Amino acid sequence: MSVRVRIAPSPTGKLHIGTARTAVFNWLFARHHGGKFILRIEDTDLERSRPEYTENILEGLQWLGLHWDEGPIYQTQRMDLYRQKVQELLDKGLAYRAYETPAELDAMREAQKARNEAPRYDNRHRHLTPEQEQAFIAEGRQPVIRFKIDDDREISWNDLVRGTVTWKGRDLGGDMVIARAAGATEIGQPLYNFVVVVDDIDMAISHVIRGEDHIGNTPKQILLYEALGATVPQFGHTPLILNQAGAKLSKRDGVTSISDFRQMGYTAEAIANYMTLLGWSPVEGMSEIFSLEEAAKYFDFDRVNRAGAKFDWDKLNWINSQYLHHMEIPKLVELLIPYWQSAGYSVDVTSDRPWLEQLTTVIAPSLTRLDDAVAMTRYLFVPEIEFSEAAIAHLNTEGTAAAIEGVLAALRETSEPLTETRAQDIVQQVVKAKGLKKGLVMKTLRAALTGDLQGPDLAQSWLLLNQRHLDQPRLEKALTIAK
Ligand code: GLU
Repeated sequence: MSVRVRIAPSPTGKLHIGTARTAVFNWLFARHHGGKFILRIEDTDLERSRPEYTENILEGLQWLGLHWDEGPIYQTQRMDLYRQKVQELLDKGLAYRAYETPAELDAMREAQKARNEAPRYDNRHRHLTPEQEQAFIAEGRQPVIRFKIDDDREISWNDLVRGTVTWKGRDLGGDMVIARAAGATEIGQPLYNFVVVVDDIDMAISHVIRGEDHIGNTPKQILLYEALGATVPQFGHTPLILNQAGAKLSKRDGVTSISDFRQMGYTAEAIANYMTLLGWSPVEGMSEIFSLEEAAKYFDFDRVNRAGAKFDWDKLNWINSQYLHHMEIPKLVELLIPYWQSAGYSVDVTSDRPWLEQLTTVIAPSLTRLDDAVAMTRYLFVPEIEFSEAAIAHLNTEGTAAAIEGVLAALRETSEPLTETRAQDIVQQVVKAKGLKKGLVMKTLRAALTGDLQGPDLAQSWLLLNQRHLDQPRLEKALTIAK
């Protein structure tokens, strides 16, 4: 059997990390089996669906490297097919028009509550006579179309993650609404659980892999497959992503959309890697840092955990730093440029390129997120820096003025760009000539050049500043507060 899986996001919000993780598992499964990964946009909720969310979802999946083989298929363009299938169930006598008013349904539920029963539709309009129907229509009632659910049925499936799952027909809430009906003969909007099944049949989906929150839909959907005379696919319900408190990760937890993670400076590789680890355990001997392609070689559902996976920022940060520390410098520069630009730093992407590469080499080992580079390199971009309290305190100690004067004098001797060897020579020279400790000279240089007492490599920072002609003015400014 050929493997055909799908991701079916609803464009009612930005690409959520939970949906993206489900997409990862589908993609890995498809690639592992040489199958197809299909994208379907479930945009039938006209009020909440927005084209900008669809765009955000497509962009997010592409950014993560989850390229799809077919689609996107939009449900709103397939209404005729859904209506045709509703009609088929009506014709087979497996679905019917029901005419309850909202008030009647409310009263029914209230009565059930009073009897301590679970609320459900009591199938009261399952066997209306044509006369009764006529009377309801004459009253101007708007019907819905309900699919018959046999209370005595037991529905079981072998879930790829959870093993055997069994539901009783009587726990499914009574005959289910599959479409709104615009009148006695027309069919209005077909509803969620129904269209998913029609699509999955039409798209020949072999495995439905989706979040555990859909598990309650599965028994109803299995009955619909049977009613439509189709083979039931395999189902796999993946564990949810939880917050630290163990509840489902939601908007209240702050960042949850892939575009937000992207903006925060996480790389696509790190996010995809981390999402895979949220629910899947790599095989023995495999590093925790892996590409989607590598994971696809080993991916199977035996290694997908049943329990929900807690989102762990420290782990994500660690994974992201691994990618940043090992990334090719030209690629890292490309990723950093937008962050520098949006911080308002002046960057000429062509003429500054060698300087940017040199600077990136200096900071790469200290990066956790791409946006760390903004604060970390500020002193290299902006002409005027502020001195930290610690830097000022240091510059107020004895000997700092002498150190700065010595360095300035050496720098003024030539306009040649500074080299690493010459920088070292200058420090040695100042130490000797002024009788200062090397530590003091270095600390003074750091304070004067970077405005702080800690930061990236001092010699490299000096070279970078020198190339932008920022070292001398900065030393001159520091001299005004040095002792
Ligand atoms: N549209 C559903 C969602 O966004 C997915 C439906 C499914 O995978 O069956 O949660």
